[in-house]
Amino acid sequence: MNNKRSQELYNEGQKHLVGAVNSPVRAFKSVGGNPLFMERAQGSKIYDVDGNEYIDLVLSYGPMILGHGHPKVIDAVQKQVNTGFSYGASTADEIKLAEMVCDAFPGMDKVRFVNSGTEAVLSAIRLARAYTGKNHIVKFAGCYHGHSDALLVAAGSGLATLSLPGSKGVPADAVKNTLIAEYNDIDSVKKHIAECDDIAAVFIEPIAGNMGVVLPTDSFIRELRQITKENGILLVIDEVMTGFRSTFGGAQELLGIEADITCLGKVIGGGFPVGAYGARNEIMEMVAPLGGMYQAGTLSGNPVAMAAGISTLTELKAQNPYDRFNRQAEILENTLLEAALENGIELTVNRFGSMINPFFSGQIITNFTEAQACDTERFTKFFWGLIENGVYIPPSQFEAWFLSSALSEADLEKLKTAIHTAMKMIN
Ligand SMILES: *Cc1c(COP(=O)(O)O)cnc(C)c1O
Repeated sequence: MNNKRSQELYNEGQKHLVGAVNSPVRAFKSVGGNPLFMERAQGSKIYDVDGNEYIDLVLSYGPMILGHGHPKVIDAVQKQVNTGFSYGASTADEIKLAEMVCDAFPGMDKVRFVNSGTEAVLSAIRLARAYTGKNHIVKFAGCYHGHSDALLVAAGSGLATLSLPGSKGVPADAVKNTLIAEYNDIDSVKKHIAECDDIAAVFIEPIAGNMGVVLPTDSFIRELRQITKENGILLVIDEVMTGFRSTFGGAQELLGIEADITCLGKVIGGGFPVGAYGARNEIMEMVAPLGGMYQAGTLSGNPVAMAAGISTLTELKAQNPYDRFNRQAEILENTLLEAALENGIELTVNRFGSMINPFFSGQIITNFTEAQACDTERFTKFFWGLIENGVYIPPSQFEAWFLSSALSEADLEKLKTAIHTAMKMIN
């Protein structure tokens, strides 16, 4: 496989970019070797600068749910580009996207658009504190909520692959109000509530996707909703990854719970920088200009990004690909398990809708500790095996693979073959 041009760019990029990347997971550190530089993408495929073609299961870490370059999204974006990039003033499209998002989330009366998932969640912390008048927050080990100070502890994702417990440069003061609980362990939450009467909110990924895909048990998620409500603690459901992924709306709908504050990102921008946080009126009315919680943004609600979001959600609703996602993910799961079994490799597959994750482990994976006990060396070999066979997956054991509605039956056949070949290469 020829990676010459990627190599050259990687070397060149070191000069003025940090590690030649603008987000750490892209550096391929946990799988060794050098990162691939991409040149273009269309539908289910992505092409690197050496002309190699891959079926793309990274999909920009989630946003590209329709696949790349959907004609309707291109059309909407081009129309907007021709009439203006950014005004710093309100537009009709912001109202339209807000209506689509609020309609899809029963517990959301109002929404505020921001520019990333990180920004959505850090604003949700401030909002929860403003509304409750309390200071502490609870997060779960292995859940990632963006890179804001207060949430950058036991944060899974890129930190997990770099084996960092947290980040340098985060003062102890910034995390002194952050309490860590164990995913799927309701007693670990109850303990914090018993010991601290100053908890503003519990933050959770409703389906964890940043320690690999980990599902909550039914009783855990329901009890979490109940005890937060009983104790006047807000439940902030971070659907930056899961929003519009498993159903047209949130994972909370499928899990039968309702958030006090919901955070969104990724899919709602259709590949452009959009994040959002929303809640019922009495909570959102805390936000300026209606209330005293300040949060602002020069490019928030950017017209081009709104056009991409509206066209993506409109097309998604029309396609309703969710049953197909479930079917395709089931086929992938069976293929992975079958290929592992044939080669005597221990494997566990977790999935939810269009998110799927093979863990190189013989155990079931229900939390961060169990996820971290996986055989990451095997994952690394598997990763490069898939790359060599034309499949681009995230370069980390702890990132979800994503399906897009552009994934064809022919792609699925190719995936099956590649998985079987790559699994043989592990031994
Ligand atoms: C990706 C992600 C974020 C951060 O979003 P960015 O747009 O990368 O800032 C926050 N929470 C979850 C659950 C995510 O998956």
